[in-house]
This record gives sequence, structure tokens and C-alpha cells, in this order.
Amino acid sequence: MKISKSEYLMYLDAPMHLWAYVHKKLDSTVIDTFTKHLFEQGYQVQKYAKEYIEKILIPDLYHNTKEFYLEVTKSDGLFEARIDLLVFNEKEENWDLIEIKSTNDIKPIHQKDLTFQYLIFAKYYKIGKCYILHLNKDYERKGQLSIKELFTLTDITKRILELVETVNIERFKALEVAQQKEYNEIEPCIKPKKCPCKELCHPLLPNYSIYDISRISKGKVNFLRGNYSNDIKDVPSDRHLGRFALTENQRRQVDVAQRDTPFIDIFEIKSFLKELKYPLYFLDYESFNPAIPMYDNYKPYDQMPFQYSLHIKESNDSDFKHKEYLECLPVDPSIGLIKCLRKDIPLDNGSIIIWSKFERTQNNAMSRRYPEQSEFIENINSRLWDLMEIFRKPMFALPEFKGSYSIKNILPVLVPELTYKGMPIANGSVAMTKWVQMVYGGGITAMDYSESEEDFSTEAIDIPKEVVDKEEVRKNLLEYCKLDTWAMVKILEKVEYYSRTI
Ligand code: SF4
Repeated sequence: MKISKSEYLMYLDAPMHLWAYVHKKLDSTVIDTFTKHLFEQGYQVQKYAKEYIEKILIPDLYHNTKEFYLEVTKSDGLFEARIDLLVFNEKEENWDLIEIKSTNDIKPIHQKDLTFQYLIFAKYYKIGKCYILHLNKDYERKGQLSIKELFTLTDITKRILELVETVNIERFKALEVAQQKEYNEIEPCIKPKKCPCKELCHPLLPNYSIYDISRISKGKVNFLRGNYSNDIKDVPSDRHLGRFALTENQRRQVDVAQRDTPFIDIFEIKSFLKELKYPLYFLDYESFNPAIPMYDNYKPYDQMPFQYSLHIKESNDSDFKHKEYLECLPVDPSIGLIKCLRKDIPLDNGSIIIWSKFERTQNNAMSRRYPEQSEFIENINSRLWDLMEIFRKPMFALPEFKGSYSIKNILPVLVPELTYKGMPIANGSVAMTKWVQMVYGGGITAMDYSESEEDFSTEAIDIPKEVVDKEEVRKNLLEYCKLDTWAMVKILEKVEYYSRTI
């Protein structure tokens, strides 16, 4: 048996995860739309990174050496890895390892990932430097895409050498886990909620478990699992938890669950609701964050808001009006979005109700990108009122929320008659991928084009593109975003109702 780099990374995620994978208990054939989209992003970055290697890195840093090899696989019998670039440094007379990452910074896991590769390649080559080639977070596109500025090469050789011993021990432990026939003693993950085979790793998982405790750490979960049970009802008081004591919010969540009674801070809710001023605007954006900036003034992974839904209530006794915007052409979508928003939200004193800080952050980014709109955007931002705060703080928590403050989890509890279930687009990730398919005709391949439609060109990539019915997607996107703001309307009504009746 051989352990590959991705299997070693699975072991780091959770030993049981690796075991389930090598024993074919995980169904890795089903790939959801969003994962497919991430693959495409990664593929696209790889493609440009290779261009960077051939046109810039090899000529500039390696003086046009002919001794460079892309995607080299090596195995020492027990472990196997593929490095993105193996290149000979003629001056130092040794070989450099270069790994491409589609992120715009280096994460600790990337360091272990490259150390795993180093351990194998160092058996066959005299290794000099170890680099990560990743996106440059400071690159802002102006005109044509600049491959030279798009990437950054970071030397992490020192860190790799520090990690060699740790990674060597871990990879042998991974091998040991993979070879075991039984899985009883293997440590499972702390995030079974979305896993398709959680019954294997977490048998008899109660409906409300310690894994549902908000932002719980691995240390706390292991302590609770080892000394008590995985049922949230069995979590003891902090006196018994010692250094694994819960945070204030975690304790409140556990208390609400164990007493099976709501937590409602009526005083705080009332004072928060008092800040609301008519007209009320319920606003929600959908956006897409391409790894490779597609338009001027965008950096890697900057969000491009492409859609909004807006429910408006002029006064206490007026009916709701609905406004919306969806960019359907291959142009920078946020330009049209801001222009349309200017028409729909006048410069007055009404509150703009959002869910989370996302809209505020996007407004700040748009204000930086389009300074001529900054006065309007600052006005909008000064009137934002975040409904999610009621649930995040929390001022209001029901046992059924299970510590979550996602609108997707709050809505079915407070307003069961409204649901995202069964909608063709039922979450933001799918909305984003479908929008890309609708506007760019498949994958995110549109790289070098201006804002005029005639100049638009796509480059073929190998990943098969999903052909979508554009009109159908447009309809589904509008329906999805509209439900987001209508859900906010209904949730606020419920909160107001509770604040009046308690
Ligand atoms: S339950 Fe956790 S450890 Fe088990 S396979 Fe799923 S994600 Fe991996």
C-alpha cells in the first residue's frame, strides 16, 4: 500500500477520514456544482501558472534552463507525490521544488503538503529551495491581464526543513491507519454534519450533538466525547470542563438545548428594533469571486456583486414593493448594480436591512472601485441594519436553531411555511455557479475581454461545460434572491411579534 499526498492530507483532516476513503466507504464520485466550480477555478489558475513558469520564471530566475519538468511523480515505495515543477538551479547545482496553489496566500496546510513532497523528492535529488507559487493578493487588474504580476513566488525552504520530522512521523501514522482492517480505535472528525458516511465514523449520533456546538474546537470535542458523550444534553457545567470550559455563547447554546427553552433578551431586542426607521429596505446581494480578476480594478478573489433583491415597506401600514437587479451580460456586473440601486433606494433616512456584514463589505469595495459612487454608497452604509445580529449575539435563540445564525437554518424554524427546499437554486454557492454558466456560457474561462460584447472571447478548457437554459437560470436566480429578502421580512415580523407578546 502507498500513501499519496492527498491521502496524507485526509489523515490530517481526520484519521478516520483517511480510513473511510481507502476502505471505499466514501462516495467520491458525486461532485456537487460548487465543488465542480472550485475545480474549475483551480484548473484555471494552474493554466496561467504554467504560462508564468514558462514565460517568466524559467527565463528570469533560471536563465532559460532546459532542465525543468512539470508535474513530476515520484514514489519511494511507501509514499507517492507529484510536484508541479522540478527545476535545476545551474548556479547552485541543485534542484528546486515549486508547488502551485490557487490561493492568494500560504496556509499552514500548504507547508505540510510541500514537506510531504520534499521527503520523497529529497531521496532522489539534491534539493535546494522549496517554493509555493500562488496568486498575488495585491495585484489589481488594469487592462489586459498581467501574468507577471498575477503570481508571487514565496520561498518556504526554512519552514519545510523545520517540519520534516513532524511530517515524517505523521505520514507513517497515516500509513498505519490506512492499513488497519478495523476502525474502532481511529479518531473521527469533528464535522460529521455534512458527511455522507457519518454513520460509520459517528454511529448513534444524536439529533443534537456536541458537533453542533458553535465554533467548538477539536480539543473540546475530544474531551467531551472521551469523558461524557456526544449528546449535547450530557455536556456538564464549566466546573467539570476545566481548561475545556465553553465560551459564553457556547454555554448559552448548551443551556438553551438542555433546558429546551428559548433564550430571549427582550430588553436588548426592543432597543435594537427601535433603531429601525421607515421606509424599510430589505436588501440582499449575490456575488461571484473569480480567482483570476476578470475586470479592471479587481484583485484575485474579489467579489463581483451581480444581483440584488429589494423589498420595500414605505410605512407601517403600506404594502411591500419588490425591486430587483440581475446582470445578464459579460460585463463588470457591479456597475449596473450600483446604478440601479441608486434608482431604487433614494437618499433618505429609511433603514436598509441586511443579513450579515456581506453587503457592507461589498459596498466598501464598490466605493473604492468607483469613487464617483462613493457618496451614495456611504449614505447606504450609514443606514444598514443587520438583522442577523439578533441571532448571532444572540438576543434571541431557540433550541431548534442549534446554535446557528444562518438564515437557511433560522427560517424553517420561525417561518416553516417559507422554504428553500425544492428550489432549483437554493443557496448562494449554486447561485454563483449558475450565474457564471448563464453569462459566460459554461466555465469561468472569460479572461481577456473588454466591456464591449464584441470583444468578448473565451478560451477552451478541458473541463466539460454544463449547458444551461439561460432563461430558466435567470428565472431561478431571481426567485432565489427574492426569497432571501422575503425571508428577512418574515423573520423580522416574527421577532417583532415575540417582542410584543413577551
Ligand atoms: S464523518 Fe468525518 S471522518 Fe468520517 S468520513 Fe465523514 S468527514 Fe471523514
